[in-house]
Amino acid sequence: MKSVARQRLRVVVLGGGYAGTMAALRLAPYAQVTLVDPADRFTERVRLHELAAGRPEVGHSRAAMLRGTGIEHLAARATGLDPGARAVHTDCGRTLLYDRLVYALGSHTDLRGPGDGDAPGRAPWAGAFTAESAAALHKRLRDGPGALAVVGGGLTGIEMAAEIAEAHPGWQVRLLTGGEIGGGLSVRGRDHVRTVLDRLHVRVEEGRRVADGDDAGADAVLWTGAMAAAGSLARDAGLETDPATGRILVDAALRSVSHPDIYAAGDAAAARTPRAGALRMACATALPTGSHVAGAILAESRGAEPRPLSYAFLVQCVSLGRHDGLIQSVRGDDTPRERVLTGRPAARVKEQVVRNAVRVLRLAARRPGAVPFIPGIGR
Ligand SMILES: Cc1cc2nc3c(=O)[nH]c(=O)nc-3n(C[C@H](O)[C@H](O)[C@H](O)COP(=O)(O)OP(=O)(O)OC[C@H]3O[C@@H](n4cnc5c(N)ncnc54)[C@H](O)[C@@H]3O)c2cc1C
Repeated sequence: MKSVARQRLRVVVLGGGYAGTMAALRLAPYAQVTLVDPADRFTERVRLHELAAGRPEVGHSRAAMLRGTGIEHLAARATGLDPGARAVHTDCGRTLLYDRLVYALGSHTDLRGPGDGDAPGRAPWAGAFTAESAAALHKRLRDGPGALAVVGGGLTGIEMAAEIAEAHPGWQVRLLTGGEIGGGLSVRGRDHVRTVLDRLHVRVEEGRRVADGDDAGADAVLWTGAMAAAGSLARDAGLETDPATGRILVDAALRSVSHPDIYAAGDAAAARTPRAGALRMACATALPTGSHVAGAILAESRGAEPRPLSYAFLVQCVSLGRHDGLIQSVRGDDTPRERVLTGRPAARVKEQVVRNAVRVLRLAARRPGAVPFIPGIGR
């Protein structure tokens, strides 16, 4: 970093989700930051099931969020990386040069399926992982009623099925999964999920492998079976990525193992810590990894060696419609303990956790120096 020591460090942040926004806000007082994201609104992605079910808005004005920070928001899509020239190409025709790049492009539904025949094929519907696709699913639900199959028994599938069944009782909702639902939950946690889904008339079909969208036997099929990182830009540019997940392979400080002037955060990073192991794709990991890359870049710019990421899981928070939920206590490595909170109190806790994510970003805009002291976000 010697060559850039005397001039303001140029940092380009790709992706304005939880991770990228956090990184940009923390870096802003010390660097010339350009945030590249086509959307002029920050999407609360953890509310996309609410948007699909009918919540009118899950976005926040990006201009308001970044006001006064000095961050330039380039409303464009990154289309190519040239690590040799330290350049990012965008679909608005601008090429951005950087000293450090933060890659935080998130993830999307893996429409290839997990490779065991559990693929969506010609699904009449597939995925609700962007604000646009969730809003389009809502339109489809309003045009109903009919039969909806949610494929995938992980937390996203559970949240989607419960939310939609509660808001659209005219639709027959089924939750299909090759294994059992909520595989990462405790016995008590899973029992509670089953009870609530039953109350909402969601038919759970476990051990049900879906060959393609037609096989699900529904008017609309929502695929939540697997997530893949938005890693193709990185891979095409020669960065080392995990072939199974598309995530960028990073060292303990979240630097690309093949291109150390590129950092990765959020769903796009194959981050791990000694206590947590491999980090799950989550808002709960996107904020701390976004904060961490900012701290690492700042440390590096001062000539110090960036610290390794320190992170351990605490809880999994699951909404089950607007009036019920599950707070599953977990060990640092994300394995479940038997302790759970359920019902309305859990729904309230989950709502506060979701709000806190936006509150933390707003705080980072006003007082970026305070972020390292927020429990669970870290340096
Ligand atoms: C329905 C649903 C419910 C969820 N619930 C929870 C939950 O309860 N708790 C939890 O911890 N996690 C939850 N998650 C997961 C969580 O939303 C993600 O893990 C989190 O959003 C990842 O943050 P990120 O910043 O890495 O990526 P994202 O939030 O996905 O942001 C990526 C950004 O990159 C932008 N982008 C993409 N491609 C380009 C490009 N080429 N150029 C420029 N910009 C681009 C996108 O517009 C987006 O703004 C849920 C996810 C879904 C879909």
